[in-house]
Amino acid sequence: LFITLEGGDGSGKSTQAAELESWLRSRGREVVRTREPGGTDVGVEIREIVLHHRGDIAPRAEALLYAADRAHHIATKVRPALERGDVVIQDRYIDSSIAYQGAGRDLGMDEVRDLSTWATGGLMPDLTVLLDLDEDAARLRLDSARTRFDRLENEASTFHRRVRQVYLELAASEPQRFLVLDATDAIESLADSIRSRVTTLL
Ligand code: C5P
Repeated sequence: LFITLEGGDGSGKSTQAAELESWLRSRGREVVRTREPGGTDVGVEIREIVLHHRGDIAPRAEALLYAADRAHHIATKVRPALERGDVVIQDRYIDSSIAYQGAGRDLGMDEVRDLSTWATGGLMPDLTVLLDLDEDAARLRLDSARTRFDRLENEASTFHRRVRQVYLELAASEPQRFLVLDATDAIESLADSIRSRVTTLL
């Protein structure tokens, strides 16, 4: 079972991933919790380049770096886990690339999707949880957490609006794969909704 979490910065993906992992473990399931970019040793190095390189990276080069991270991650960690029968809970996947590289940075969404599909051999999640957060709520959260505030401050707010819009469009186009939740709901209530959906898939 392959579950991905998507949403903007500060939407609570890692909190929900941790909640879901402990719930699944309490039910006796083996779980691999991982993320992109940076779910492998190679990925950690790629993450360093894409997120912390000083200066601009050409948009196509950036898309290829995310795809390289993903190709290695899926081949060496995720597929083996799925073949063992483990549940994989993953923070960000193909929808992040479509939203951020495809729409946010003006590469074609279809091209970015095709690149990612090639990189992964077409592996798609059984369930994608979208933690939807509007921009004002995201800003408030990040401000109070004092993390990653620079990104929201420094990047144009239209970028974040566009990313959110693409996420919602992706979810609307594949309603069976997506569970869309309001990220401002209480942590426990979000966790409950995710568990209910996952239960139907176990
Ligand atoms: O979720 P995480 O903090 O790991 O993501 C870091 C940042 O990387 C995100 O805020 C997003 O701006 C960027 N990102 C991206 N394209 C991806 C994955 C992440 O632009 N495919």
